[in-house]
Amino acid sequence: MIIDFHTHIGDFGRAWREEGTAVTFENLIQRLDDEGIDKAVLLPIYVSPDAIYPGFIIDPRMSVHDQVVDAAKFSDRIIIFGNLDPRWSGGATRGDFAPYLDWFAEHGCRGIGEITSNLPFDDPRVINMFQQIGKRRWPVVFHGTGFAPGTYGLQDDPGSPRLERLLAAAPETPIVGHGPGFWAEIGPITAEAKNGYPSGPIPEEGSLPKLLRRFPNLYCDISAGSGYRAITRDREFGIRFLQEFQDQIVFATDVTSCKPEARTDHLGLLQRLRDEGQLDQAAYDKITGGNAQRLVGLA
Ligand SMILES: [Zn+2]
Repeated sequence: MIIDFHTHIGDFGRAWREEGTAVTFENLIQRLDDEGIDKAVLLPIYVSPDAIYPGFIIDPRMSVHDQVVDAAKFSDRIIIFGNLDPRWSGGATRGDFAPYLDWFAEHGCRGIGEITSNLPFDDPRVINMFQQIGKRRWPVVFHGTGFAPGTYGLQDDPGSPRLERLLAAAPETPIVGHGPGFWAEIGPITAEAKNGYPSGPIPEEGSLPKLLRRFPNLYCDISAGSGYRAITRDREFGIRFLQEFQDQIVFATDVTSCKPEARTDHLGLLQRLRDEGQLDQAAYDKITGGNAQRLVGLA
């Protein structure tokens, strides 16, 4: 079974004044059919202000509630996640997310994400929320970034010391990383590279491979330009990385437009590596679906 572990519904084009690019349940499932993908993990958006473009607030399409409830109509193809912001502490909540996790569970959710709030990974509110999610053995998907204005996602310094503290503090929580600040750490890193898309050969490994070895609860989704570039910038390194961490990597795309030209080569890359004998069949099967099934309790 092939599972795309990182998809969204919504009108991302609105942020850039592009018409007619909204991702709907119908055109998402059409893409899955066209690409031979069995299921998609849907990560609700419109949660954290850091990741909300001004145009989103006048988008009539969807709230998190609607994304979760509407996904139930497509439950044979869509694996729905809930989403939260660690800063929510108003009313009676005071950092207790149980009522919302219960609601997500009652509505068929199997994880949380993607977390896009601009907070350090080791902020007590982030650790608290990840620990509560881990008690249910649910995976959490996050977008990782460095410290810089105009970004969204959980923040870290070069070398990932804050992510390391979160992983140690929430050992029961399967934590799935994605985004430029996460993937730049595949190799040696500078503060500047942490917020970008470093390219070229990887002379020595960065903090990401080391963290994957130390923390079996750390996973990576290979979606978007950040994941694709990280595993292709140095072909030999990328193949070794996929083989060594085949139990902790999930295929994913993060496609945010319905236009055919927005489709990505992530699955094609994995298929080519398998066909060329660079990636063995067992590793291919785990990365394209087996690990995802285990993470969401479908195995
Ligand atoms: Zn995303």
